[in-house]
Amino acid sequence: MPENKVKKYFKLIEAWAWCPICEDMVALIIDKDEIIDGLKTSIYTKEFTHKNPHPDLDDTDDLSGNEHTIYIYINENYDITGVKAFFGESPTTTEIGAQAAEEGGEVRIPILVKEVPPMAVKFGMLNKEQFRVLKVCDGMNTIEQVAQIAQKSVRDIEEMMEQLRRKGLVKIIIRT
Ligand SMILES: [Zn+2]
Repeated sequence: MPENKVKKYFKLIEAWAWCPICEDMVALIIDKDEIIDGLKTSIYTKEFTHKNPHPDLDDTDDLSGNEHTIYIYINENYDITGVKAFFGESPTTTEIGAQAAEEGGEVRIPILVKEVPPMAVKFGMLNKEQFRVLKVCDGMNTIEQVAQIAQKSVRDIEEMMEQLRRKGLVKIIIRT
């Protein structure tokens, strides 16, 4: 799998992200202002819906000619920290569980239980970092993936999830 790449310019970045459905790199131009704005409150996610212009027509398993979406997570250095691809509105937890189980071992998926308004940080219900990380606890990422996207250690995320679980903000789904 080729590595994701970013070219950085003054006002924008050119991002090449690997789409596992197209099995090809997808190129995107993103305004830096958009990223900076998104990073103010949480982890920046670029959502990009597309179709593979050159699907393999001889391969009946190749569904990449159908519309699908990738999420590209970008950090404050404008680097890509993660990519997710899926058909439809959002990937289902079942798909993630099955996919991760194939790789072996137990899978822990943190899921936000209720919507947390930005005001919650002001009122001290949770800190900025927790608020930021909660954005990727959407049932699409395992604890390891959350750690990778947020650029924290798995241990840090485990501790944070335990705190948030006690506050009733997240639940952890376990799949084996
Ligand atoms: Zn694609």
